[in-house]
Amino acid sequence: MIGLETGVALIERGLKVTIVEMLPQILPMMLDPEMAKLVQESLEAKGMSILTSKTVEEFLGEGKVTAITAGGEQIEADLFVSAFGVRANTKLAVDARIPLGETRAIKTNGRMESDMSDIYAIGDCAEAPNIVTHKPSCAQLGTIAVRQGKVAGANAAGDYSLFGGVLASAVTRLFDIEAGVTGLTEKAAARARIDVVAGAISSKTKADYYPGALPIKVKLVVEKESQRIIGAQVVGSDEVTQRINALSFAIQKQMTVRDLAKADTAYAPPLNETWEPMVLAAEMVLMKLR
Ligand SMILES: Cc1cc2nc3c(=O)[nH]c(=O)nc-3n(C[C@H](O)[C@H](O)[C@H](O)COP(=O)(O)OP(=O)(O)OC[C@H]3O[C@@H](n4cnc5c(N)ncnc54)[C@H](O)[C@@H]3O)c2cc1C
Repeated sequence: MIGLETGVALIERGLKVTIVEMLPQILPMMLDPEMAKLVQESLEAKGMSILTSKTVEEFLGEGKVTAITAGGEQIEADLFVSAFGVRANTKLAVDARIPLGETRAIKTNGRMESDMSDIYAIGDCAEAPNIVTHKPSCAQLGTIAVRQGKVAGANAAGDYSLFGGVLASAVTRLFDIEAGVTGLTEKAAARARIDVVAGAISSKTKADYYPGALPIKVKLVVEKESQRIIGAQVVGSDEVTQRINALSFAIQKQMTVRDLAKADTAYAPPLNETWEPMVLAAEMVLMKLR
């Protein structure tokens, strides 16, 4: 995601940008392949060259990078931006014999306290449970770091506060397309061995006939047995963030897809479609569950 955001900024400055992605799709932590394809097509239409299923193998040049090789192909470049992801630097904790968890970040309890009494860990270096899987996770987002900081601060000052876990809700804007996720993607659910039904709907941000109506696609991931929503992705030209936030509340409150299909949503032609896209996506899932 950061790599794509940087690529967009560089293109806007007039540079020619090639993205090299090791996996078969862009935004693999955020979107399922068919949702990522929408973003990729939009970026390519703006002139970004995207190579998927290619690993960066070598930097070429004397003292300065002049090219890289990726998947056997040589790509000339004046500048190389490394955006391979973030790993927690836990050396300080390890040296102090503070235990790490299974994600290799610092293990914490619900009060954001490490296994060593009165030592708290928050943010990118700290582990916290995922709300859906209940397994330790390390989502490395500013939103989570701030919430964990409030909890740890209250506890360190003698109060009692619990951190509720993470859904890793995230959004990005790349040129004029926005993408967001909350909870699990279909792929992440499969990795967690959760049996799901997914459904998606392509709609508009305003009444179809209204000037300025832009495309938006909503995908829901629903746990088959309980019919609870456990993940959502939204890709569109506008109005993505607040839908992701609404779906994040729905997951946190353990809403079923049936509840969402009956949601009392608002409509006015300049502001929304008659049928809210989140509700239509819920109906798609319900049809598959029948
Ligand atoms: C380019 C970029 C864009 C991002 N955009 C978003 C976004 O849009 N939304 C979002 O939610 N998240 C975003 N993030 C993630 C977010 O910035 C991080 O999750 C968040 O900053 C983590 O907070 P933190 O306090 O754990 O770590 P940091 O913000 O990295 O702060 C840790 C601080 O500790 C200092 N430090 C390290 N070791 C020591 C030491 N031994 N002694 C004293 N100080 C030390 C470091 O210098 C640093 O200042 C982005 C990250 C990047 C890199």
